[in-house]
Amino acid sequence: MSSLVAKLANNHPGIAFTIGNTARWSRDEQTVYHNPGEPHADWVLLHETAHALLDHSDYARDIELLALEREAWEYASHTLAPDYGVCINPAFINEHLDTYRDWLHAKSTCPACQSNGYESSPQQYACVHCGGTWHTNTGVDREIRRFQTV
Ligand SMILES: [Zn+2]
Ligand SMILES: [Zn+2]
Repeated sequence: MSSLVAKLANNHPGIAFTIGNTARWSRDEQTVYHNPGEPHADWVLLHETAHALLDHSDYARDIELLALEREAWEYASHTLAPDYGVCINPAFINEHLDTYRDWLHAKSTCPACQSNGYESSPQQYACVHCGGTWHTNTGVDREIRRFQTV
């Protein structure tokens, strides 16, 4: 794991690799945060590095995030992983994308009446049923719970 970080940092001197509680990419800081203690941290690290190399924005609309997630996993598993001698289990990716879908659904659910809202502007939601509005947190991979694949 630490040797993978060292290799990535060496090959991508423009990107900072920093330990954090939640693995995520910050475009503003040009930093990949990674948590060596989480399950399959090397796969997640390659995924976050893919977000960085694809120059994904932290401020995409929620409705765009699933496409960004898919793109980052594809780049991680087909381009980065073979280069670094890593093999990412496709079941792990599917589980992550399912979790992400559930998370996005939870974000778009009206807190007042549980109807499905629409994203009126980035991370701002409105409910056509009761007129409620709410906002959600920004950024790729924020507050995503990750699952261990058995
Ligand atoms: Zn991601
Ligand atoms: Zn509502």
